[in-house]
Amino acid sequence: MEHYLDNAATTKPCAKAAAAAMRCLMEVYGNPSSLHRKGLEAQHEMDLARKRIAEALGCKSKELLFTSGATESNNLSIRGIAASYGKRRKKIIASAVEHASVKQTLSFLEVQGFTVVLVMPREDGTYHAADFLKEVDSNTLLVTMMLVNNENGCRLPVEEVFRAVKRRDSEVVTHCDAVQGFLKMPFRAKTLCADLISISAHKVHGIKGVGALYIRQGIRVKPILFGGHQEHQLRPGTESVPLIVAFGVAVEKLSSDVMDRYQQIVQLRKRLIELLRTMDGVLIRDLPDTSPYVLNISLLGYRSEIVLHYLEKQKIYLSSGSACSKGASSGVLESFGAKQNEVDSALRISFCAENTEADLTALVQGLKGAQRDLMH
Ligand code: PLP
Repeated sequence: MEHYLDNAATTKPCAKAAAAAMRCLMEVYGNPSSLHRKGLEAQHEMDLARKRIAEALGCKSKELLFTSGATESNNLSIRGIAASYGKRRKKIIASAVEHASVKQTLSFLEVQGFTVVLVMPREDGTYHAADFLKEVDSNTLLVTMMLVNNENGCRLPVEEVFRAVKRRDSEVVTHCDAVQGFLKMPFRAKTLCADLISISAHKVHGIKGVGALYIRQGIRVKPILFGGHQEHQLRPGTESVPLIVAFGVAVEKLSSDVMDRYQQIVQLRKRLIELLRTMDGVLIRDLPDTSPYVLNISLLGYRSEIVLHYLEKQKIYLSSGSACSKGASSGVLESFGAKQNEVDSALRISFCAENTEADLTALVQGLKGAQRDLMH
């Protein structure tokens, strides 16, 4: 039996989404820009997916465009806003724990002459709206904040910050990377006060290679790719109809019971914490305001990669908690105050509604086995 506990990295596509993609691959293969029946059929399928996702996000269909994933949605948002409004205003405010697709884009803009201010969490691991708001001034172009951090599940006060920013100066643009919050906690595009929202299909049981970007009506974003007229001339290239349709199906399936699943995951996480507390040498990062979908721990004294490979032999799958890329940490856990030895031994457990008590007991047994069998 497999124990997949790496749902913040990606989720298993749901059967309905996979079936819809296969049907489109084989039957709805027209180019949505073609004027004949096969093209119109593809366009119609895409329109339906857009409507489903827009409904789940609480926006109009025409405010949603498809991309290749949240990486592209984040790039397009930030670079597109900088190109559109960045002549007069040069300051961008972001949390210090954004995903690389935001942080790297900000570094790119810094080289182009923009000023980037990264806001750190407080010592207790929480984010406060006031820490963002004190940075906002007449030079501020954009405030970008993720809804939920992908490494430790920390929830950022996005709505509070965006609402206050807009009240102070409605010209400041607001962007939210909502990848780890979409369909995991209830929110609507309008009440979030975000001008732009990035989401990704493969984090919600869709298929890799497609995402979406909400752009509030009236916000001007300049394209970063050039070519055809697709997606309001903002994202050229023939749309991947099978992936988009599967995205729509996955979203429709999840959107009806966000709160029920939330409660289920709260219980799962609570139970895992209970089980972990019976062990010695486990540091549990149970921050005050966290999404239940992610739990970051450290198996102190044991390097993450070694533990991951030990667990995978027992078909238990999770991530190193610091999203290491070839040995280099992303710096997120350090921003939350973790010490080097804690970062080196960090593990990220991330849930979906299909996880059960059996996954939790297998994991705890696996971790106890690691403490017994591996070199300390
Ligand atoms: N933003 C966050 C918070 C993520 O967790 C991820 C995925 O790892 C991304 C952006 C990038 O999403 P995608 O894989 O669709 O490009």
